[in-house]
Amino acid sequence: MRIIVQKYGGTSVKGLERMRMVLARIQKAHALGYKLVVALSAMSGETNKLLAQAREFSADPDPAELDVLVTTGEQASVALFTMLAKDAGLRVRSLLGHQIPITTNSNFTRARIMEIDASHLRSLLEDYDVLVVAGFQGVDCHGRVTTLGRGGSDTTGVALAAALEADVCEIYTDVNGVFTTDPNLCSAARKLERISYDEMLEFSSQGAKVLQIRSVELAKKFNVPVRVRSTFTDDPGTLVTSEDTEMEDVLVSGIAYDKDQCRITVRNVKDTPGVAAAIFAPIAEAGILVDMIIQNTGRDGHTDMTFTISRVHLDKTLSILDHLRPEISADEIQHDIHVCKVSVIGVGMRSHSGVASTMFTLLKKENINILMIATSEIKITCLIEEKYLELAVRTLHDAFGLGEGPAVACV
Ligand code: ADP
Ligand code: ASP
Ligand code: MG
Repeated sequence: MRIIVQKYGGTSVKGLERMRMVLARIQKAHALGYKLVVALSAMSGETNKLLAQAREFSADPDPAELDVLVTTGEQASVALFTMLAKDAGLRVRSLLGHQIPITTNSNFTRARIMEIDASHLRSLLEDYDVLVVAGFQGVDCHGRVTTLGRGGSDTTGVALAAALEADVCEIYTDVNGVFTTDPNLCSAARKLERISYDEMLEFSSQGAKVLQIRSVELAKKFNVPVRVRSTFTDDPGTLVTSEDTEMEDVLVSGIAYDKDQCRITVRNVKDTPGVAAAIFAPIAEAGILVDMIIQNTGRDGHTDMTFTISRVHLDKTLSILDHLRPEISADEIQHDIHVCKVSVIGVGMRSHSGVASTMFTLLKKENINILMIATSEIKITCLIEEKYLELAVRTLHDAFGLGEGPAVACV
């Protein structure tokens, strides 16, 4: 049995006309002799609408109930699409996460997949041509509904492909593939034919929402070939795959950005062993991810600690820090939500130096102040003021030769 997994995002399933386009794609693959497992997202805007509604009912909604609520978006998509596909003559049925089951841990709103019953899916595929699976959702060991974090239908798709040993996982979206930067922000962005798992991990972790980071981790771990492509064009898209030597020849393959950033500075904390642990342990225990961290050089036995988090966690983090104030003897706690991250990414950086200093020089030329810096082997990230985001992305994209013109020399 040859199986393809396809995942269709929110814009691809928004309304009857678009679902008809999805159906045509599925029929085409079926005519080639494949069985299909298709993961669908909620129609675009639906999840946001449901989350906003929850906040009208509760100031701090219970995460388990949030999951019960938001999974209805995907449930509506799969039911409607399956009706359409059945009327078109396909042997097709829908499946919710708990019906497979896709078993996750109990970390509501951002659960991780533990297991997928692939043998159940395989036996169903004896009787059906197409299984339409609700993306983004699972069930924990107590039978409670969970979700996989925003953008989690990508992860459903890749996890299904890994479990079923499918030929490929196709991620259908509203752009032609993975680009050198967000094509909706920078018109000079170019589509990449291929990208390595590691580069895609950096793109996703630095804010390129075209693939959820967890989906890329799974694809890398289980060696699933992932093709990102558009529902609306015949472009072959971008293949996300293992790294090869040709990829290393490219110094910089793209620019990512993330607007969901907030900078917090805790002023004048004691510069003694255990202060970082005292600040960050309770934040981690509250399930809040800290991204960049800087500790200043101490003076007079005191120091400043600056770090970034997602904006949705601001209130919770401030209240944790407020409780800690006496213990860490902080003078002041400041925050700034008008910041964003810009990252230059490329596996070629492993063997070339000079990208970081070139990036800093380019930002300086545009008079953009760098607030924080973070690096990995294949990425340089700067935190800057949000108002400079587009300028920074365009400047770096052009200067590193990702558009039409030549690249600046990195010294
Ligand atoms: P879907 O609803 O299909 O899951 P998403 O909105 O989650 O789609 O992801 C697709 C969007 O990702 C694109 O519309 C684009 O604006 C954004 N994006 C950000 N960075 C990139 C990039 N480097 N390449 C392609 N798309 C990107
Ligand atoms: N509907 C969910 C979201 O908007 C999951 C997804 O679309 O991938 O985050
Ligand atoms: Mg998405």
